[in-house]
Amino acid sequence: MSKFLNTNTVNSADIISNCDVNSDKLDFAKKVIISLQNEVIKNIISGSGPFIAAIYDDKGDFVCKCANSVVNDRCSNCHAEVNAIKEAEKIFNTYDLSPFNLSIYVSAEPCMMCLGAIMWSGIKSVYYSVPSNLVEKITGYDEGFKPNWFEEFLKRGITVYGNIESKLGCEALEAYVKSGDVIYKPKR
Ligand SMILES: [Zn+2]
Repeated sequence: MSKFLNTNTVNSADIISNCDVNSDKLDFAKKVIISLQNEVIKNIISGSGPFIAAIYDDKGDFVCKCANSVVNDRCSNCHAEVNAIKEAEKIFNTYDLSPFNLSIYVSAEPCMMCLGAIMWSGIKSVYYSVPSNLVEKITGYDEGFKPNWFEEFLKRGITVYGNIESKLGCEALEAYVKSGDVIYKPKR
């Protein structure tokens, strides 16, 4: 485990984190992320984007799960994390999720927009699979600029664990690209 690795250059099997890694939490996250990646592969046929986010509470109870729906909803904001946060806020009927000690599990590292959405939501922990440098390499998506986000999240009391089961995650993204589905992004 290494702290504060540059998230743009990681591609080893190491878990990266901004805190001391809790092995029980990590074991739980691995199970959740493996099931999300298997769902990403299934979702390719339904026209969803190749990303899924799930939210659980601190007892490990499921709150909600959403896929990226940019193409189907014709909305550039509809990343999996944003969709899941909106769903959780609807469930708890509040804009502030902090009293509920929630964690978000994502099939890939959140992009710059989703980091903002997570920061504003009151979610306490982030667990993600494929790092942004690999997402960009495999898919061609532009994940944005996210300087020191591990440190910035830690300052705000948000723990981050990354690169969880990322080999499987890369395979899911490769399957998406191979399927010929849209790599939705603005033209530059
Ligand atoms: Zn995003």
